Amino acid sequence: MELYVDTHAHLDYDLFDEDREIVIQRAIQNGVAAIITIGVDLESSRKAVDIAEKYAMVFAAVGIHPTECADVPDSEFDKIEELAQHEKVVAIGEVGLDYYHMRAPKEVQKNAFVYQAHLAQKLGLPLIIHNRDSHDDMYELIVDKNISEVGGVMHSFSGTIEFLEKILLTDLYISFTGNVTFKNSKLGELVERVPLERLLLETDSPFLTPVPLRGKRNEPAFIIYTAQHIAGIKQIPVEELGKITTENAKRLFKKLDI
Ligand SMILES: [Zn+2]
Repeated sequence: MELYVDTHAHLDYDLFDEDREIVIQRAIQNGVAAIITIGVDLESSRKAVDIAEKYAMVFAAVGIHPTECADVPDSEFDKIEELAQHEKVVAIGEVGLDYYHMRAPKEVQKNAFVYQAHLAQKLGLPLIIHNRDSHDDMYELIVDKNISEVGGVMHSFSGTIEFLEKILLTDLYISFTGNVTFKNSKLGELVERVPLERLLLETDSPFLTPVPLRGKRNEPAFIIYTAQHIAGIKQIPVEELGKITTENAKRLFKKLDI
């Protein structure tokens, strides 16, 4: 019955303050074997670790998100490094570039990303990479800084077929969220091109709620709708997609003990 790993959720957000425990129970009842809850700054990384300590099937990623990396003192990166050594921290993330919101200058974002990529390499952890409207600079950093060697996933993948083909030449994994189910989504043709052994599933809860629940708060139990949609594109049973993507998650996130 345990089928899916939600490799990206934000369980620390206050939208879950009322019913976090119920949300986690509902995920378990719906075949979610593990959830990785993701930090976006020092405070949410701490909360992610707290939640992971409390629930056996929840794991954490810690890091400073590109929209949160302006004016972050070095001491906060040191604290991320300390947190990352916790037994339930399975990745550094989410980190990367975001030229859509542009809350920090490009150079600041690049420096924070590269610093945390080195940290991941030093600690033997994979990266959870956020990339929004920054494909050229992201690809350049992936190549120049050997990010593929560090290992990681391009989360909530977006971009052109050309960009995807370049990423597929690296060793990075690709994950899609509920937005693949949206009526006007063009992500289907990207999903088609990703080999099954490079694919991960995620919800990005509380965001990007899949059809037919679009508009509601997203939660890990809803991963089934995204899984069904992707299994349809791949023309395989959803159980098989679950099995393969869970194996992929365990291969990438070595500390994911399930
Ligand atoms: Zn996220």
